[in-house]
Amino acid sequence: MELEITINLDNYENIKIKVNGDTHTECIDQFKTIFPLLGNQSEHVYSKISSYAKRVFNIDLPKYTIKPVPPHQNIPERIPITQITVGNCENCNTPITKAEKDLSTLFQNKSLCKNCLKS
Ligand SMILES: [Zn+2]
Repeated sequence: MELEITINLDNYENIKIKVNGDTHTECIDQFKTIFPLLGNQSEHVYSKISSYAKRVFNIDLPKYTIKPVPPHQNIPERIPITQITVGNCENCNTPITKAEKDLSTLFQNKSLCKNCLKS
């Protein structure tokens, strides 16, 4: 059998869904799958579809949840101050941070990285 429904969404907009199945139950099962997918982008559409589903087929749709907006990709990540390098290790040429430079200058009077200062 074939079932075709039209859900009115106001503003002269509507959604037409046609399903095919061997039995009435099979068609309804397809609606159950389709309804949540159609409504998951807009709360307005969701409310229309869920009230239709409830009224006409007595289907309870899962509660509408707003999809989390992906974080803004354009903002450059701020580099933590401890990772800003001020020069290179005099021993192994690894970039060193201000803290490392200050410490090694204090102890060895050289710009050394953490590893070279320890050894
Ligand atoms: Zn080093």
